[in-house]
Amino acid sequence: MRRLNRRSFLKVTGAQAAVLALSRRAAAQPSSDVVVIGAGAFGGWTALCLREMGVPVTLVDAYGAGNSRASSGGETRQIRAGYEDRELYTRWVLDAFGRWKAREAEWGRRLFYETGRLLLAPEWNHGLETTKAALDKYKVPNERLTPEEVRRRHPQMSTEGVGVALFEPTTGVLKAREGCLAVAEAFRNKGGRMRISRAGPGRRAGSRLADVALSDGSALAASTFVFACGPWLGKVFPDVMKGKLFTPRRDVFFFGTPAGDDRFSYPNFPNYSEEDSGGGYYGFPSFDNRGFKVCPAGEKTAFDPDTDERLVSPYQVKRARDYLAVRFPVLKDQPVVETRVCQLEMSVDEHFIVDRHPALENVWLVGGGSGHGYKHGPVMGEYVARRVMGQDKSPELETVFRLKAQTFA
Ligand SMILES: Cc1cc2nc3c(=O)[nH]c(=O)nc-3n(C[C@H](O)[C@H](O)[C@H](O)COP(=O)(O)OP(=O)(O)OC[C@H]3O[C@@H](n4cnc5c(N)ncnc54)[C@H](O)[C@@H]3O)c2cc1C
Repeated sequence: MRRLNRRSFLKVTGAQAAVLALSRRAAAQPSSDVVVIGAGAFGGWTALCLREMGVPVTLVDAYGAGNSRASSGGETRQIRAGYEDRELYTRWVLDAFGRWKAREAEWGRRLFYETGRLLLAPEWNHGLETTKAALDKYKVPNERLTPEEVRRRHPQMSTEGVGVALFEPTTGVLKAREGCLAVAEAFRNKGGRMRISRAGPGRRAGSRLADVALSDGSALAASTFVFACGPWLGKVFPDVMKGKLFTPRRDVFFFGTPAGDDRFSYPNFPNYSEEDSGGGYYGFPSFDNRGFKVCPAGEKTAFDPDTDERLVSPYQVKRARDYLAVRFPVLKDQPVVETRVCQLEMSVDEHFIVDRHPALENVWLVGGGSGHGYKHGPVMGEYVARRVMGQDKSPELETVFRLKAQTFA
């Protein structure tokens, strides 16, 4: 190896010197080819898929996989194929279904529960029309129901104000928090390294990031970094993400079912959802006897995923109870038995974000689940893994998932 004398040393540019210093430091630490930051649905599956491609990966999460602050940290998330005219996601969901089932078999644990999904509306509208057209096109079973038929099948609910319904019988619910833990466990079992630490961009070497700075003061070097930080993405990259992500709170309620009454519990009632001028409501039957889920949607208050307290607001309690009084009168006086407060991570166009950092060629920004990302985890993970490794050349997806120029007002 050529040794540097003083003269040649002085010729080394500042940037080269930085690279040399960084590579010496990197060599002193356990290094991964890829560091994934965030063990939620997107980061966890990405890390697992990379590992299964044989890549040395370290997965870093500030609070651990499936934590209570993460968007993926709720007990349950819906998997549904109806996406109006966004057929890409219908195709992805159909792919995801097979992958979830294959992983259930591989891991010997149940994560998917078929409930069916009932979409309620005052009248047949464009959204229902395009959803039905996509379901028909991809041969996803579905039925258009009259209110009388809904009442006949589900006499435990009222159809007041309902003019029509669309039922998807084969969709259902995924165990979300448990799914994150299962993915992290599989990742570790396949030789992945996991660290609990907050990570931020560390030192740069020209147009590359050399390492991430960890909250214990150390640094972690790699050749590629995937920041799958969900609602935290804007905190990690405040300049690049400014105005591009909005994190509204969601209050989620679990109402006790009446003693001796299992009509609102899985498998006796489907997922349900309906819109109104305030944002609408959706929910799931009671799972594991934890209560009937009701989520009033539409809240616009921004939520800090690190510091805000997860206490439901009296206003949302009232909304949930008023809704029960109309749609599920049997439950209107039942107590709230559990609650969660979570935050969405909305992108400006509600498409996912998978893009390179504009100034750092080995840094990937992954997020923008926009209230529908969890179910796609297995497909998204493989897509990101292949993209990062330069194995995906799908220009259509690159365009859809690009970090858009628009911002929230
Ligand atoms: C109430 C609610 C209902 C939803 N319903 C559905 C549904 O029915 N179906 C569906 O498919 N989707 C649903 N979603 C959306 C879905 O849950 C999210 O899109 C998805 O879980 C996002 O995953 P993620 O990995 O991007 O983010 P997250 O799950 O939030 O994961 C990000 C992770 O990154 C970690 N992290 C962040 N910053 C750092 C850092 N600097 N250093 C280290 N670690 C860091 C966090 O600790 C966290 O674990 C819902 C979301 C909410 C909130």
